[in-house]
Amino acid sequence: MAKVPYVVKDECTECGVCVDTVPTVFRMDDNNKAEVFDPNGASEAEIQEAMDLCPVACIHWQE
Ligand code: SF4
Repeated sequence: MAKVPYVVKDECTECGVCVDTVPTVFRMDDNNKAEVFDPNGASEAEIQEAMDLCPVACIHWQE
């Protein structure tokens, strides 16, 4: 099964980097926090890149 990413919204600084990097997976919610709307919208490598770019490292893989 493909790995599924999620955002810890309490830690999100609303910078938008993940949305800019992988707009097919991440979007900003009504409170301007990032969220995953399509976990299968990009490759794991692309999602990992967004994780690595997140300035507060609040995007994780579900175990
Ligand atoms: S990169 Fe991290 S801090 Fe920035 S919007 Fe995405 S989840 Fe939030």
